[in-house]
Amino acid sequence: MSLLDNAKFLSPVWARYTDILVERGEGAYLYAADGRSYLDFTCGIGVTNTGHCHPRVVAAIREQAGLLLHGQANIIYHRPMLELVGALREVVDPALDSFFFSNSGAEAVEGAVKLARQATGRSEIIVFQGGFHGRTAGAMALTSSKGKYRGGYANMPAGVHFAPFAYLYRNAVVRAAGKNPAALSWAAPYAEEGYEEPLGQLRQIMDTETVPEDVAAILVEPIQGEGGYIVPPIGFIQGLRQICDEHGILLIADEVQTGFGRTGAFFAMEHFGVTPDILLMAKGLASGLPLSGIAARRELMERWHAGSHGGTYGGNAVACAAAVATIAAIREEGMVENAARLGGILKNELGALRGRHPAVGDVRGLGLMVGVELVGEGDAPNGALAKRVLVGCRERGLLLLNCGPYDNVVRFIPPLVANEAQVRQAVRIFEEALAG
Ligand code: PLP
Repeated sequence: MSLLDNAKFLSPVWARYTDILVERGEGAYLYAADGRSYLDFTCGIGVTNTGHCHPRVVAAIREQAGLLLHGQANIIYHRPMLELVGALREVVDPALDSFFFSNSGAEAVEGAVKLARQATGRSEIIVFQGGFHGRTAGAMALTSSKGKYRGGYANMPAGVHFAPFAYLYRNAVVRAAGKNPAALSWAAPYAEEGYEEPLGQLRQIMDTETVPEDVAAILVEPIQGEGGYIVPPIGFIQGLRQICDEHGILLIADEVQTGFGRTGAFFAMEHFGVTPDILLMAKGLASGLPLSGIAARRELMERWHAGSHGGTYGGNAVACAAAVATIAAIREEGMVENAARLGGILKNELGALRGRHPAVGDVRGLGLMVGVELVGEGDAPNGALAKRVLVGCRERGLLLLNCGPYDNVVRFIPPLVANEAQVRQAVRIFEEALAG
Protein backbone atom coordinates (compact mmCIF):
# COMPACT_ATOMS: atom_id res chain seq x y z
CA MET A 1 0.00 0.00 0.00
CA SER A 2 1.45 3.38 -1.01
CA LEU A 3 0.84 6.69 0.72
CA LEU A 4 -1.06 7.87 -2.35
CA ASP A 5 -3.69 5.18 -1.64
CA ASN A 6 -4.84 7.39 1.22
CA ALA A 7 -5.84 9.99 -1.36
CA LYS A 8 -9.03 8.06 -2.00
CA PHE A 9 -10.18 9.08 1.48
CA LEU A 10 -10.00 12.77 0.55
CA SER A 11 -13.22 14.46 -0.49
CA PRO A 12 -13.65 14.47 -4.27
CA VAL A 13 -15.06 18.01 -4.02
CA TRP A 14 -11.48 19.17 -4.63
CA ALA A 15 -11.38 19.37 -8.43
CA ARG A 16 -7.97 17.83 -9.03
CA TYR A 17 -5.33 18.98 -11.50
CA THR A 18 -2.67 16.31 -10.89
CA ASP A 19 -1.84 13.27 -8.79
CA ILE A 20 1.73 14.33 -8.12
CA LEU A 21 2.94 13.64 -4.58
CA VAL A 22 5.30 16.50 -3.77
CA GLU A 23 8.02 16.07 -1.15
CA ARG A 24 9.41 19.59 -1.15
CA GLY A 25 9.61 22.88 -2.97
CA GLU A 26 12.45 25.31 -3.53
CA GLY A 27 12.28 28.54 -5.50
CA ALA A 28 10.55 27.92 -8.81
CA TYR A 29 10.62 24.11 -8.47
CA LEU A 30 8.58 21.35 -6.87
CA TYR A 31 10.26 18.00 -6.21
CA ALA A 32 8.07 14.89 -6.38
CA ALA A 33 8.34 11.62 -4.47
CA ASP A 34 9.03 9.72 -7.71
CA GLY A 35 12.18 11.74 -8.32
CA ARG A 36 10.76 14.10 -10.93
CA SER A 37 11.00 17.86 -10.61
CA TYR A 38 8.56 20.43 -11.97
CA LEU A 39 8.94 24.06 -12.92
CA ASP A 40 6.03 25.44 -10.95
CA PHE A 41 4.25 28.24 -12.79
CA THR A 42 1.12 27.83 -10.65
CA CYS A 43 2.59 29.15 -7.39
CA GLY A 44 -0.12 27.30 -5.49
CA ILE A 45 -2.62 29.60 -7.29
CA GLY A 46 -0.68 32.80 -6.93
CA VAL A 47 0.47 32.31 -3.34
CA THR A 48 4.20 31.56 -3.33
CA ASN A 49 5.28 34.82 -4.93
CA THR A 50 8.61 34.62 -3.08
CA GLY A 51 9.15 31.10 -4.44
CA HIS A 52 8.77 27.88 -2.52
CA CYS A 53 10.30 27.96 0.96
CA HIS A 54 12.10 31.27 0.64
CA PRO A 55 14.92 30.99 3.23
CA ARG A 56 14.03 34.30 4.94
CA VAL A 57 10.38 33.30 5.28
CA VAL A 58 11.26 29.83 6.57
CA ALA A 59 13.69 31.30 9.11
CA ALA A 60 11.06 33.78 10.36
CA ILE A 61 8.49 30.99 10.73
CA ARG A 62 10.96 28.78 12.62
CA GLU A 63 11.93 31.58 14.96
CA GLN A 64 8.36 32.64 15.70
CA ALA A 65 7.24 29.03 16.18
CA GLY A 66 9.65 28.79 19.12
CA LEU A 67 8.36 32.00 20.69
CA LEU A 68 4.57 32.11 20.33
CA LEU A 69 2.31 30.14 18.00
CA HIS A 70 -1.01 31.76 18.77
CA GLY A 71 -1.77 35.00 20.51
CA GLN A 72 -5.44 35.76 20.01
CA ALA A 73 -5.94 39.25 18.58
CA ASN A 74 -8.76 40.26 20.95
CA ILE A 75 -6.78 39.26 24.00
CA ILE A 76 -3.21 40.44 23.47
CA TYR A 77 -0.94 42.26 21.04
CA HIS A 78 1.85 40.15 19.64
CA ARG A 79 5.02 41.42 18.07
CA PRO A 80 4.60 39.95 14.52
CA MET A 81 1.18 41.61 14.01
CA LEU A 82 2.48 45.02 15.05
CA GLU A 83 5.56 44.53 12.88
CA LEU A 84 3.32 43.51 9.99
CA VAL A 85 1.25 46.67 10.31
CA GLY A 86 4.52 48.62 10.13
CA ALA A 87 5.63 46.68 7.03
CA LEU A 88 2.26 47.13 5.31
CA ARG A 89 2.34 50.87 5.99
CA GLU A 90 5.42 50.97 3.75
CA VAL A 91 3.71 49.32 0.76
CA VAL A 92 -0.01 50.11 0.99
CA ASP A 93 -1.35 53.50 -0.13
CA PRO A 94 -0.84 55.74 2.95
CA ALA A 95 -4.51 56.79 2.82
CA LEU A 96 -5.42 53.24 3.93
CA ASP A 97 -4.04 53.38 7.43
CA SER A 98 -6.06 50.82 9.38
CA PHE A 99 -5.75 47.03 9.11
CA PHE A 100 -7.77 43.95 10.00
CA PHE A 101 -6.48 40.40 9.61
CA SER A 102 -8.15 37.06 8.94
CA ASN A 103 -7.11 33.73 7.41
CA SER A 104 -8.28 33.46 3.80
CA GLY A 105 -9.23 35.58 0.83
CA ALA A 106 -12.90 34.73 1.19
CA GLU A 107 -12.85 35.87 4.82
CA ALA A 108 -11.29 39.18 3.81
CA VAL A 109 -14.00 39.62 1.16
CA GLU A 110 -16.79 38.84 3.62
CA GLY A 111 -15.26 41.16 6.22
CA ALA A 112 -15.03 43.98 3.68
CA VAL A 113 -18.68 43.61 2.69
CA LYS A 114 -19.69 43.68 6.37
CA LEU A 115 -17.51 46.76 6.90
CA ALA A 116 -19.00 48.51 3.85
CA ARG A 117 -22.56 47.78 4.92
CA GLN A 118 -22.13 48.99 8.49
CA ALA A 119 -20.03 52.00 7.53
CA THR A 120 -22.52 53.24 4.91
CA GLY A 121 -25.77 51.93 6.35
CA ARG A 122 -26.52 50.66 2.82
CA SER A 123 -27.28 47.13 1.71
CA GLU A 124 -26.43 46.58 -1.98
CA ILE A 125 -23.12 45.40 -3.44
CA ILE A 126 -22.20 45.63 -7.13
CA VAL A 127 -19.75 43.03 -8.45
CA PHE A 128 -18.67 41.98 -11.94
CA GLN A 129 -19.57 39.11 -14.22
CA GLY A 130 -16.65 36.70 -14.24
CA GLY A 131 -15.46 37.88 -10.82
CA PHE A 132 -14.13 35.45 -8.23
CA HIS A 133 -14.17 36.34 -4.55
CA GLY A 134 -14.15 32.98 -2.76
CA ARG A 135 -16.31 30.05 -1.80
CA THR A 136 -17.83 30.75 1.62
CA ALA A 137 -21.56 31.49 1.51
CA GLY A 138 -21.16 35.26 1.40
CA ALA A 139 -18.20 35.26 -0.99
CA MET A 140 -19.87 32.69 -3.26
CA ALA A 141 -22.83 35.05 -3.67
CA LEU A 142 -20.38 37.63 -5.08
CA THR A 143 -18.68 35.15 -7.43
CA SER A 144 -19.67 34.41 -11.03
CA SER A 145 -16.52 33.15 -12.74
CA LYS A 146 -18.14 29.71 -13.18
CA GLY A 147 -21.70 28.54 -12.77
CA LYS A 148 -20.54 25.45 -10.90
CA TYR A 149 -19.35 27.57 -7.98
CA ARG A 150 -23.01 28.52 -7.42
CA GLY A 151 -25.07 25.64 -8.83
CA GLY A 152 -26.99 23.63 -6.26
CA TYR A 153 -26.25 26.08 -3.46
CA ALA A 154 -29.48 28.08 -3.49
CA ASN A 155 -30.38 30.41 -1.93
CA MET A 156 -27.63 32.98 -2.16
CA PRO A 157 -27.38 35.88 0.27
CA ALA A 158 -29.29 38.79 -1.31
CA GLY A 159 -28.30 42.32 -2.29
CA VAL A 160 -25.76 41.47 -5.00
CA HIS A 161 -25.86 42.90 -8.55
CA PHE A 162 -23.67 41.74 -11.44
CA ALA A 163 -22.32 44.31 -13.90
CA PRO A 164 -20.29 43.46 -17.02
CA PHE A 165 -16.49 43.63 -16.74
CA ALA A 166 -14.45 45.41 -19.43
CA TYR A 167 -13.38 42.22 -21.20
CA LEU A 168 -11.71 43.72 -24.24
CA TYR A 169 -11.13 40.51 -26.22
CA ARG A 170 -14.82 39.60 -26.05
CA ASN A 171 -16.13 43.16 -26.45
CA ALA A 172 -19.11 42.89 -28.81
CA VAL A 173 -18.99 46.54 -29.89
CA VAL A 174 -15.32 46.31 -30.84
CA ARG A 175 -15.96 43.07 -32.73
CA ALA A 176 -19.04 44.46 -34.50
CA ALA A 177 -16.96 47.43 -35.65
CA GLY A 178 -14.57 44.95 -37.31
CA LYS A 179 -11.64 45.95 -35.08
CA ASN A 180 -9.02 43.54 -33.79
CA PRO A 181 -10.07 42.64 -30.22
CA ALA A 182 -6.73 40.96 -29.45
CA ALA A 183 -4.88 44.19 -30.28
CA LEU A 184 -7.12 46.10 -27.89
CA SER A 185 -6.59 43.50 -25.18
CA TRP A 186 -2.81 43.61 -25.71
CA ALA A 187 -2.89 47.40 -25.25
CA ALA A 188 -4.70 47.16 -21.89
CA PRO A 189 -4.50 48.94 -19.49
CA TYR A 190 -3.93 51.72 -22.03
CA ALA A 191 -6.68 50.71 -24.49
CA GLU A 192 -8.57 53.82 -25.50
CA GLU A 193 -11.92 52.10 -25.85
CA GLY A 194 -14.00 49.26 -24.46
CA TYR A 195 -14.84 50.78 -21.06
CA GLU A 196 -17.67 53.24 -21.66
CA GLU A 197 -20.16 50.53 -22.56
CA PRO A 198 -19.66 48.37 -19.40
CA LEU A 199 -19.63 51.50 -17.24
CA GLY A 200 -22.92 52.54 -18.89
CA GLN A 201 -24.42 49.16 -18.05
CA LEU A 202 -23.29 49.50 -14.44
CA ARG A 203 -25.01 52.89 -14.26
CA GLN A 204 -28.11 51.27 -15.74
CA ILE A 205 -28.12 48.69 -12.92
CA MET A 206 -28.23 51.58 -10.46
CA ASP A 207 -31.16 53.06 -12.43
CA THR A 208 -33.15 49.85 -12.63
CA GLU A 209 -32.31 47.03 -10.19
CA THR A 210 -31.48 49.37 -7.30
CA VAL A 211 -30.74 53.02 -6.54
CA PRO A 212 -27.28 54.50 -5.94
CA GLU A 213 -28.29 55.57 -2.41
CA ASP A 214 -28.69 51.89 -1.50
CA VAL A 215 -25.32 50.78 -2.90
CA ALA A 216 -22.72 50.26 -0.17
CA ALA A 217 -19.84 49.18 -2.39
CA ILE A 218 -18.53 48.25 -5.80
CA LEU A 219 -16.23 45.24 -5.40
CA VAL A 220 -13.74 44.66 -8.21
CA GLU A 221 -10.63 42.65 -9.00
CA PRO A 222 -8.33 45.15 -10.77
CA ILE A 223 -7.38 42.26 -13.06
CA GLN A 224 -9.87 39.42 -13.10
CA GLY A 225 -8.14 36.22 -11.99
CA GLU A 226 -10.24 33.08 -11.99
CA GLY A 227 -12.50 34.75 -14.59
CA GLY A 228 -9.73 34.56 -17.21
CA TYR A 229 -6.79 36.86 -16.40
CA ILE A 230 -8.56 39.87 -17.88
CA VAL A 231 -6.87 43.26 -17.77
CA PRO A 232 -9.40 46.10 -18.10
CA PRO A 233 -8.50 49.47 -19.56
CA ILE A 234 -7.46 52.26 -17.18
CA GLY A 235 -10.66 54.13 -18.07
CA PHE A 236 -12.73 51.32 -16.57
CA ILE A 237 -11.15 51.34 -13.11
CA GLN A 238 -10.96 55.15 -13.10
CA GLY A 239 -14.63 55.27 -14.15
CA LEU A 240 -15.54 53.05 -11.19
CA ARG A 241 -13.74 55.46 -8.86
CA GLN A 242 -15.70 58.34 -10.38
CA ILE A 243 -19.06 56.57 -10.03
CA CYS A 244 -18.26 55.74 -6.40
CA ASP A 245 -17.32 59.36 -5.67
CA GLU A 246 -20.49 60.65 -7.32
CA HIS A 247 -22.72 58.55 -5.08
CA GLY A 248 -20.82 58.01 -1.82
CA ILE A 249 -20.23 54.35 -2.72
CA LEU A 250 -17.13 52.56 -1.40
CA LEU A 251 -14.71 51.06 -3.92
CA ILE A 252 -13.33 47.72 -2.72
CA ALA A 253 -10.30 46.36 -4.60
CA ASP A 254 -9.94 42.59 -4.27
CA GLU A 255 -6.17 42.22 -4.67
CA VAL A 256 -6.12 38.70 -3.26
CA GLN A 257 -4.57 37.36 -6.49
CA THR A 258 -3.03 40.55 -7.93
CA GLY A 259 -1.19 41.75 -4.83
CA PHE A 260 2.34 41.49 -3.50
CA GLY A 261 4.25 42.31 -6.63
CA ARG A 262 2.47 39.86 -8.90
CA THR A 263 1.63 42.40 -11.64
CA GLY A 264 4.89 44.35 -11.59
CA ALA A 265 3.53 46.83 -9.04
CA PHE A 266 3.15 46.09 -5.34
CA PHE A 267 -0.64 46.30 -5.81
CA ALA A 268 -2.34 46.25 -9.22
CA MET A 269 -4.46 49.32 -8.45
CA GLU A 270 -1.24 51.32 -8.81
CA HIS A 271 -1.29 50.62 -12.57
CA PHE A 272 -4.63 52.40 -12.76
CA GLY A 273 -3.69 55.34 -10.55
CA VAL A 274 -6.71 54.68 -8.34
CA THR A 275 -6.88 54.44 -4.54
CA PRO A 276 -9.69 52.17 -3.37
CA ASP A 277 -11.56 52.80 -0.14
CA ILE A 278 -10.91 49.23 0.94
CA LEU A 279 -8.03 47.00 -0.19
CA LEU A 280 -8.13 43.22 0.24
CA MET A 281 -5.07 41.01 0.39
CA ALA A 282 -4.30 37.32 0.99
CA LYS A 283 -2.43 34.67 -1.07
CA GLY A 284 1.02 36.29 -1.62
CA LEU A 285 0.88 38.09 1.72
CA ALA A 286 2.43 35.29 3.78
CA SER A 287 4.09 33.07 1.13
CA GLY A 288 1.78 30.14 1.89
CA LEU A 289 0.72 30.52 5.51
CA PRO A 290 -2.97 31.31 5.88
CA LEU A 291 -3.34 35.05 6.31
CA SER A 292 -5.50 37.75 4.75
CA GLY A 293 -5.97 41.42 5.38
CA ILE A 294 -8.29 44.37 4.94
CA ALA A 295 -6.84 47.87 4.69
CA ALA A 296 -9.06 50.96 4.89
CA ARG A 297 -9.05 54.52 6.15
CA ARG A 298 -9.20 54.76 9.94
CA GLU A 299 -12.39 56.87 9.85
CA LEU A 300 -14.07 54.10 7.85
CA MET A 301 -12.84 51.34 10.15
CA GLU A 302 -14.16 53.34 13.11
CA ARG A 303 -17.66 53.02 11.65
CA TRP A 304 -17.35 49.21 11.85
CA HIS A 305 -19.02 48.48 15.17
CA ALA A 306 -16.40 47.22 17.64
CA GLY A 307 -16.88 43.53 18.41
CA SER A 308 -19.27 42.97 15.50
CA HIS A 309 -16.59 41.11 13.50
CA GLY A 310 -13.50 39.08 14.35
CA GLY A 311 -12.18 35.52 14.46
CA THR A 312 -10.12 33.18 16.59
CA TYR A 313 -7.09 32.79 14.33
CA GLY A 314 -7.02 36.00 12.26
CA GLY A 315 -3.57 37.57 12.36
CA ASN A 316 -1.93 34.40 13.66
CA ALA A 317 1.53 35.08 15.06
CA VAL A 318 3.44 32.65 12.82
CA ALA A 319 1.53 33.77 9.72
CA CYS A 320 2.23 37.43 10.54
CA ALA A 321 5.95 36.65 11.02
CA ALA A 322 5.94 34.96 7.60
CA ALA A 323 4.25 38.04 6.10
CA VAL A 324 6.81 40.44 7.58
CA ALA A 325 9.61 38.33 6.07
CA THR A 326 7.72 38.06 2.78
CA ILE A 327 7.34 41.82 2.41
CA ALA A 328 11.00 42.37 3.33
CA ALA A 329 12.12 39.76 0.78
CA ILE A 330 9.90 41.18 -1.98
CA ARG A 331 11.21 44.69 -1.40
CA GLU A 332 14.86 44.02 -0.69
CA GLU A 333 15.33 41.44 -3.43
CA GLY A 334 13.73 43.54 -6.17
CA MET A 335 10.93 41.07 -6.87
CA VAL A 336 8.44 43.70 -8.05
CA GLU A 337 10.96 44.95 -10.59
CA ASN A 338 11.74 41.37 -11.62
CA ALA A 339 8.02 40.71 -12.13
CA ALA A 340 7.72 43.79 -14.35
CA ARG A 341 10.82 42.92 -16.42
CA LEU A 342 10.19 39.18 -16.77
CA GLY A 343 6.49 39.81 -17.32
CA GLY A 344 7.36 41.88 -20.38
CA ILE A 345 9.48 39.02 -21.75
CA LEU A 346 6.82 36.41 -20.93
CA LYS A 347 4.04 38.38 -22.59
CA ASN A 348 6.13 39.11 -25.69
CA GLU A 349 7.22 35.48 -26.06
CA LEU A 350 3.65 34.28 -25.69
CA GLY A 351 2.40 37.04 -27.98
CA ALA A 352 4.76 35.79 -30.68
CA LEU A 353 2.90 32.44 -30.63
CA ARG A 354 -0.19 34.15 -32.01
CA GLY A 355 1.35 34.31 -35.45
CA ARG A 356 2.32 30.61 -35.41
CA HIS A 357 -0.72 29.04 -33.71
CA PRO A 358 -4.24 30.10 -34.73
CA ALA A 359 -5.54 28.55 -31.47
CA VAL A 360 -3.85 31.36 -29.53
CA GLY A 361 -6.66 33.89 -29.60
CA ASP A 362 -5.56 36.38 -27.00
CA VAL A 363 -2.49 37.03 -24.85
CA ARG A 364 -2.92 39.45 -22.00
CA GLY A 365 -1.58 40.31 -18.59
CA LEU A 366 0.52 42.59 -16.44
CA GLY A 367 3.77 41.54 -14.83
CA LEU A 368 3.89 37.84 -14.02
CA MET A 369 0.12 37.41 -14.31
CA VAL A 370 -0.33 36.42 -17.94
CA GLY A 371 -3.15 34.51 -19.61
CA VAL A 372 -3.37 32.88 -23.04
CA GLU A 373 -6.92 32.45 -24.28
CA LEU A 374 -7.16 29.37 -26.52
CA VAL A 375 -9.86 29.40 -29.17
CA GLY A 376 -11.29 27.35 -32.00
CA GLU A 377 -13.50 28.14 -34.98
CA GLY A 378 -14.89 31.70 -34.83
CA ASP A 379 -12.81 32.41 -31.70
CA ALA A 380 -15.04 30.03 -29.70
CA PRO A 381 -13.46 29.14 -26.32
CA ASN A 382 -11.47 25.88 -26.59
CA GLY A 383 -11.33 24.41 -23.10
CA ALA A 384 -10.54 20.90 -24.39
CA LEU A 385 -7.35 22.18 -26.00
CA ALA A 386 -6.34 24.01 -22.81
CA LYS A 387 -6.79 20.77 -20.86
CA ARG A 388 -4.60 18.87 -23.36
CA VAL A 389 -1.95 21.57 -23.22
CA LEU A 390 -1.81 21.45 -19.41
CA VAL A 391 -1.29 17.68 -19.55
CA GLY A 392 1.37 18.08 -22.25
CA CYS A 393 3.18 20.69 -20.16
CA ARG A 394 3.06 18.54 -17.06
CA GLU A 395 4.54 15.58 -18.94
CA ARG A 396 7.37 17.90 -19.97
CA GLY A 397 7.96 19.10 -16.39
CA LEU A 398 6.01 22.36 -16.33
CA LEU A 399 2.98 23.01 -14.12
CA LEU A 400 0.40 25.49 -15.37
CA LEU A 401 -3.27 26.13 -14.54
CA ASN A 402 -6.23 27.20 -16.60
CA CYS A 403 -9.08 29.55 -15.77
CA GLY A 404 -12.07 31.37 -17.26
CA PRO A 405 -15.73 30.28 -17.43
CA TYR A 406 -14.85 27.82 -20.19
CA ASP A 407 -11.48 26.76 -18.76
CA ASN A 408 -9.82 27.87 -21.99
CA VAL A 409 -7.39 30.43 -20.59
CA VAL A 410 -3.99 29.01 -19.68
CA ARG A 411 -2.47 31.15 -16.97
CA PHE A 412 1.17 31.71 -16.21
CA ILE A 413 1.80 32.59 -12.53
CA PRO A 414 5.53 32.04 -11.99
CA PRO A 415 7.16 33.00 -8.70
CA LEU A 416 8.59 36.51 -8.68
CA VAL A 417 12.03 34.94 -8.11
CA ALA A 418 11.92 33.16 -11.48
CA ASN A 419 14.64 33.98 -13.99
CA GLU A 420 14.64 34.68 -17.70
CA ALA A 421 15.83 31.18 -18.63
CA GLN A 422 12.93 29.61 -16.71
CA VAL A 423 10.42 31.92 -18.38
CA ARG A 424 11.77 31.13 -21.84
CA GLN A 425 11.84 27.40 -21.03
CA ALA A 426 8.19 27.55 -19.93
CA VAL A 427 7.11 29.22 -23.17
CA ARG A 428 9.09 26.65 -25.18
CA ILE A 429 7.37 23.78 -23.35
CA PHE A 430 3.98 25.45 -23.75
CA GLU A 431 4.51 25.79 -27.49
CA GLU A 432 5.57 22.14 -27.80
CA ALA A 433 2.48 21.04 -25.87
CA LEU A 434 0.31 23.27 -28.04
CA ALA A 435 1.76 21.82 -31.21
CA GLY A 436 1.67 18.24 -29.91
N1 PLP B 1 -10.47 36.83 -4.29
C1 PLP B 1 -9.72 36.53 -5.35
C2 PLP B 1 -9.46 37.57 -6.38
C3 PLP B 1 -9.20 35.24 -5.50
O1 PLP B 1 -8.46 34.93 -6.57
C4 PLP B 1 -9.45 34.28 -4.50
C5 PLP B 1 -8.92 32.90 -4.62
O2 PLP B 1 -8.55 32.44 -5.67
C6 PLP B 1 -10.24 34.65 -3.41
C7 PLP B 1 -10.73 35.93 -3.32
C8 PLP B 1 -10.56 33.65 -2.32
O3 PLP B 1 -9.42 33.39 -1.57
P1 PLP B 1 -9.36 32.08 -0.65
O4 PLP B 1 -9.32 30.90 -1.54
O5 PLP B 1 -8.11 32.28 0.16
O6 PLP B 1 -10.58 32.11 0.21
